[in-house]
Amino acid sequence: MEQVYLDHNATTPTDPEVVEAMLPYLTGSFGNASSVHQFGRDAKVALENAREQVAAVIKCRPAELYFTSGGTESDNIAILGTAYQYRKVKNHLIIGATEHHAVLEPAEHLKSREGFDLDILPVDNEGRIVPDSLTDRITDNTSVVSVMLANNETGTVQDIEPLARITHQYDALFHTDAVQAIGKIDVDVAALDVDLLSLTAHKIYGPKGVGALFIRQGVKIAPLFYGGGHEKRRRPGTENVAGAVGLARTLEIAQKRLQDDYSRMSELAEYFIDGVMGKIPDVHFNGSRQHRIPSTVSLSFEGIEGESTVLSLDIKHIAASSGSACTSGVTEPSHVLMAMDVPPILGQGAVRFSLGRSTTREQLDYVLTELPPIVEHLRSMSPIYKSIKQ
Ligand SMILES: *Cc1c(COP(=O)(O)O)cnc(C)c1O
Repeated sequence: MEQVYLDHNATTPTDPEVVEAMLPYLTGSFGNASSVHQFGRDAKVALENAREQVAAVIKCRPAELYFTSGGTESDNIAILGTAYQYRKVKNHLIIGATEHHAVLEPAEHLKSREGFDLDILPVDNEGRIVPDSLTDRITDNTSVVSVMLANNETGTVQDIEPLARITHQYDALFHTDAVQAIGKIDVDVAALDVDLLSLTAHKIYGPKGVGALFIRQGVKIAPLFYGGGHEKRRRPGTENVAGAVGLARTLEIAQKRLQDDYSRMSELAEYFIDGVMGKIPDVHFNGSRQHRIPSTVSLSFEGIEGESTVLSLDIKHIAASSGSACTSGVTEPSHVLMAMDVPPILGQGAVRFSLGRSTTREQLDYVLTELPPIVEHLRSMSPIYKSIKQ
């Protein structure tokens, strides 16, 4: 059996068409976009074309788009850059409870090491933020609110616009991490009403190590790096021209395929969820059936650890991921599932299957044959499962 890759939320293979678009800028047109000679000018033209293409996708001005090394860097610049910019007048931040570590950790750093106040917005059982919880916490002292558009573990999609609207009533800035949404659903900065938005290429068939941050015109941020005039001093460093070209091309392709991929992913995911639920008892779906990125499927198998399921699947050449982070030998449920009030016993049993363009019904059928005996075997050795079932 071929390998079945169901971990597209971790990363994706780079589309050969994207590689092809990038190649000239790694070889013949290798110039530094800051150089004044022909090599530099060629690189600069490619970089600015890429900027225009990416801007067109999220419907911002090219001048509002800054290339970065990916989602983590964009999130860090957004959180730290805004917090530092306004720290003399405002020192309160608010983030969602299910944010990616790239938002969570800079925010926690500001709180624990730099004297900022941090509030975390709770989510409901589907991972959705209730707008009232923001109204309850936001004050005139709030400088930035950050809530992700789509969650990487569950695929839950937030209603961003109402949250951004509340935020703006308090003269605060709104950031969204759109890494898992871009190229999968429509992402429009005006409709979302956000001031900052992070994206990356490698989750949507682009290269690793390149992303972008949208910063609305007029929004001030303190730079985190110094050393050059690149990206208007907000992100100095020789531009990754080939990467920017790759990001632009991959987004163009994703936009063109958006509707088709969305319906195909929905169909495959429903087929898979129904298949698993029909064949295996005591399985729970994590997330929102209604507000979600269809390709992300998080399922909890009662009584066994997600990590064990993932390792057993790997032996059968199936790549998935467990929702839990293994810390010092003890598997802790992820902060995402805990925030959703998923009982720890189920949180530990979570497995994330993330489908992608290469996923076929035949592959899912293979998983549907291999998974039930794996779960049954692990449960037969699980004292926890036996105790629940008695
Ligand atoms: C992957 C991911 C990131 C980090 O992006 P990188 O480009 O890998 O640094 C940030 N946020 C979310 C939601 C992600 O899924």
